[in-house]
Amino acid sequence: MRKPLIAGNWKMYKTINEAVELANGAKRELLDFSEVDIVLCPPFTSLDSVYEVIMDTDIKLGAQNLYWQEEGAFTGEVSPIMLKDCGCEYVIIGHSERRKYFAETDETVNKKIKTALAVGLIPIVCVGETLKERESQKTIEVVQRQLQQGLKEIAKDTFSKIVIAYEPVWAIGTGKTATPQQAQEVHKFIRDWIEDNYSSDIAQKTRILYGGSVKPSNIEELMREEDIDGALVGGASLKVSSFVDITRNAVKIR
Ligand code: PEP
Repeated sequence: MRKPLIAGNWKMYKTINEAVELANGAKRELLDFSEVDIVLCPPFTSLDSVYEVIMDTDIKLGAQNLYWQEEGAFTGEVSPIMLKDCGCEYVIIGHSERRKYFAETDETVNKKIKTALAVGLIPIVCVGETLKERESQKTIEVVQRQLQQGLKEIAKDTFSKIVIAYEPVWAIGTGKTATPQQAQEVHKFIRDWIEDNYSSDIAQKTRILYGGSVKPSNIEELMREEDIDGALVGGASLKVSSFVDITRNAVKIR
């Protein structure tokens, strides 16, 4: 059975003090809560300070991006080695905001995933369609392309470490959540794709998260779906109470 995972993507929010406060709140409320794997993804500037707060707990640290070189003259970029150095175990790759505003492509996503895996970081790989693509019935086509190109040439033995997040772009930060059925349909497609391209065992082990306006009030119904293993949470991860409620509600039905 796959252990649920709830990851908070803090995006470009929180100063160091605010991040420490939020991490302390999550730690206080979720200290003995072992039914869910919890990952906090603060901005780069707060990684170190948040790690100090959670290092003696089961809560894990994640980054929101990385560059695919280990070091070099790449002004403004952060390498996977540096993320490991800050205590990161996870890294979000290919978030739709990075694809939209920072020209991230399936090709750069692929390079980043390979580099993350090479240093032992667990990539949380984001895929998902825009509203226009959904309305023109292209959801599966788009997700399939993102999987095929983004996950190109990933070796079998490392694939099972990857976490995939299905995040329909039209649901991110909009308050519109995919219905559990809409999400399940794509999650099932992703799991079948993994089975066809890797193995049934790897497909059964891979965690597939849903992301897009997840709140304490909708996580439970999403988690009822067979192929939804947790959530990547943006806005609602910025407050202790909503993040904690999402985490607790995620396992209410189990
Ligand atoms: C996200 O940033 O990955 C996300 C899902 O955001 P939100 O929960 O705010 O829609």
